[in-house]
Amino acid sequence: MGRLRLATAWLGGCSGCHMSFLDMDEFLLDLADLADLVFSPPLVDTKVYPEGVDLVLVEGAVCNAEHLALIRTIRRRTRLVVALGDCAVTGNVSAIRNVLGGASAVLGRSYLENCDPPGPIPSDPDLVPTLLDRVVPVHAVVDVDLFLPGCPPSGPTIRAVLEKVIAGEPVDPGTLGLHFG
Ligand code: SF4
Repeated sequence: MGRLRLATAWLGGCSGCHMSFLDMDEFLLDLADLADLVFSPPLVDTKVYPEGVDLVLVEGAVCNAEHLALIRTIRRRTRLVVALGDCAVTGNVSAIRNVLGGASAVLGRSYLENCDPPGPIPSDPDLVPTLLDRVVPVHAVVDVDLFLPGCPPSGPTIRAVLEKVIAGEPVDPGTLGLHFG
């Protein structure tokens, strides 16, 4: 088997899950010897999600139109999609606006009630991506192969998954406290 093509993606999350990825510390150097990181917001300077990715760790919930387009592209171009962290798995804190009246209520609160003078609410999707009315977890939009819960999941847990995939071994959800979709 050739070198694995790995990726990480950042949807609606706080970056804490990516901090855990970076918390793998010296294993990141081993990873660079074993696999190619082809897309990753904190580490790889590219905006286009490539074809032929073996595994992607997806942080965050699906909150806006850009997230929706990206996760659909990711699914088409990736063999194993991992929902990384509670926002990706359940919506978590990213989905709090669902119980506060949805996107229109949040936009009104941010741009009308808390602005002096109020408004306007941004309407150019090239400047501010259009918010979905409901925030949803990744599996509500695309099939997910592995759920990696935690807020955030620990660096050693992420490492354990990557080591198994790199070794070509099946990930045993029971030993990791995970479950497959
Ligand atoms: Fe941040 Fe927790 Fe969501 Fe990860 S799961 S993006 S650490 S809030």
